[in-house]
Amino acid sequence: MSSPFFFIAVCLILVLLCLWLIKRLKHLLSKTHELKNEIENLSCTLRLLSEHSSDISFRYDLKGLITQESQNFQRVTGHDISKNHVTIYDILTENPLNEKFRTHLQKEVKQEGTKTTIQVEIYDRFGKGLLLELLEKPEYSTEGQLKWIDVVAKDVTLAIKTEKTLKESRNQLKHVLKAIPDAIFMIDREYRYRSFQTIDEDKLWQKSKEFEGEKVFDVVPKPLGNFLEKHMELSFKTGKKQIIEYQMGEGKERCIYKGRLIKLSEDFLLVASSDITAEKLANEELIKAERIAEETQKAKKAFFATMSHEIRTPLNGVVGTTNILMNSSIDEKQYETLEILKASSDSLLRTINDVLDYSRIESGSLDFKESLFYLNKLVEESLSLIKFEARKKGILLSSNYNDDVPQFIRTDEARLRQIISNLLYNAIKFTESGSISIEVSCLKKLNEYLWLNFKVQDTGIGIPKEKQHQLFEEFTQVDNSYDRQFSGSGLGLAIVKKLVQLMEGDVSVQSEVNKGSSFEFTIKVRVASSMNNTDNQENTGMETDYIAGEHPMKLLLVEDNDINRKLIVIYLERLGYVADIAKDGIEALQMVSKNTYETILLDISMPKMDGFQVVQEIQKLEDKAKPYIIGISANAFKEDVSKAHEVGMNDYIIKPIYFKDLKERLLKAHSLIK
Ligand code: ADP
Repeated sequence: MSSPFFFIAVCLILVLLCLWLIKRLKHLLSKTHELKNEIENLSCTLRLLSEHSSDISFRYDLKGLITQESQNFQRVTGHDISKNHVTIYDILTENPLNEKFRTHLQKEVKQEGTKTTIQVEIYDRFGKGLLLELLEKPEYSTEGQLKWIDVVAKDVTLAIKTEKTLKESRNQLKHVLKAIPDAIFMIDREYRYRSFQTIDEDKLWQKSKEFEGEKVFDVVPKPLGNFLEKHMELSFKTGKKQIIEYQMGEGKERCIYKGRLIKLSEDFLLVASSDITAEKLANEELIKAERIAEETQKAKKAFFATMSHEIRTPLNGVVGTTNILMNSSIDEKQYETLEILKASSDSLLRTINDVLDYSRIESGSLDFKESLFYLNKLVEESLSLIKFEARKKGILLSSNYNDDVPQFIRTDEARLRQIISNLLYNAIKFTESGSISIEVSCLKKLNEYLWLNFKVQDTGIGIPKEKQHQLFEEFTQVDNSYDRQFSGSGLGLAIVKKLVQLMEGDVSVQSEVNKGSSFEFTIKVRVASSMNNTDNQENTGMETDYIAGEHPMKLLLVEDNDINRKLIVIYLERLGYVADIAKDGIEALQMVSKNTYETILLDISMPKMDGFQVVQEIQKLEDKAKPYIIGISANAFKEDVSKAHEVGMNDYIIKPIYFKDLKERLLKAHSLIK
């Protein structure tokens, strides 16, 4: 009974066991499949990695023969070991670096499993050097014999090259920085000194250990610290280069620096600081020197103005009184004495005018005033200036005008008169007998312009050839010995040259000793077809001195200087005028408020109230017709004349006053007030 049951039970157990085994097998089979897939995936990834990695692996035997290699060995080195036998020793380059590799197998007996790193350079297939870093692992037999070496190699050509270049650049930079005279500081975000570079550490204000790692603010004086930090912050914030100037120390210790703040990164700032003390001091000296020069120039001008005034005023008296005396009833002896006085005072006046003119030309304050005038009249008047002297010496004077020279021209009449008379004065001064002539011709005509040529010729002492070239330089005289025969300032021809240049022309000389000289100059003028009344009020016909009849005016003369006042009164009487007289500005104002004057002759330099103030006060007077005011002054400077016009004067006479000049001004005044 028990045996069939037992048998069935055993069978059942066996069946169950089989079923369980089958299930287990199935499970194992599926696991194996999964593992296989995974292995395939992994090997695929490995292949991909090795193909795309720059690292290569290979194996070489004791003779160096490469017996196995990774797939990318060929890609990196270009060598195909399946076609050729390649030994590692065959492809080593001449680089001395390889020496160690050639012998390292013999020298270093390695333990199994020891890994070593070594660098070699090999040729690739194209002969180009490849730097490899080898990680070698030797393989030994069970008997301890070295069988082969497994190698993983990394191509470090680029890395080494880059590192070398970097090292070189760093080196260069170091040299460059050393050559820069500036002290260079590296400052971090917290305004701490991180490093510095300077040629001479002794020149730094602090020893390096006193400031390295410290905050700028704690090292330099407080106000400077604030200033520096402000600009450093600005530099960090804006990224813009900041240029600052700052000072360390005081008095003789004072040093001035120029700092350039350059942002290198978000964390670092470079401060290049150069010592500009010497440059600054030189600059300050220069400014001081300029200021002194300016002040000297001003003082010079003021001196000339005063001199001009102080000399002209008394001279006015001398010239005027001499003229009056010469026209009065005197005997021949007295006349001769007065002639000497006249010649001396004229010459003195010319010298003063030369010096003043020259100073005006030099300071650039000479202006060009164009007017229309009768050319022949100007030349004849200039000749008449030397008539007296010529008659005395028995010298013949003549003038000649070519047919193409117009009667009327437009240019600066006063300047042209000055040029011609300077040349004529020289001619008469240096000629004892013979003749002096002046010839005017026209060189060319273009549109409204004419180029006129003037030639002043004499038969005087002449000028040696070697002296001629320097004649037009200032203070030059042919005979400059102390006992020289001829007086003069040596400025006349220098002034002539400058004036001619002002008129866009040039001057030259031709001369022979003991035969004579010929001075020629050309100027550019404007053509004027005829005399126009508004341009010039002069009467070119017969002249009479008694003008008051035809040109009546109520006149006031204001002059504090007794001699000048008397002189002007005499002139006015000759012209037929009886003027009221005021001896100073205050008296003048009282008279103007009581009377109506048509013309006032007003001296400018007066005590208490000067002429400019008088004009201003007159302008304030209400219900009064404004008089025509002619200022009188010995100040011949341009600024004085323009100031006179500015305050409201209508005309301006420069002392010494000449009768003819006064007459012309009064005629002009009359024509303008009517
Ligand atoms: P100065 O006022 O001394 O005459 P200038 O500049 O007018 O100064 O003349 C310079 C010098 O040129 C004179 O001193 C003289 O030696 C010489 N010179 C000028 N003009 C003549 C001339 N017509 N004949 C001879 N020498 C002359």
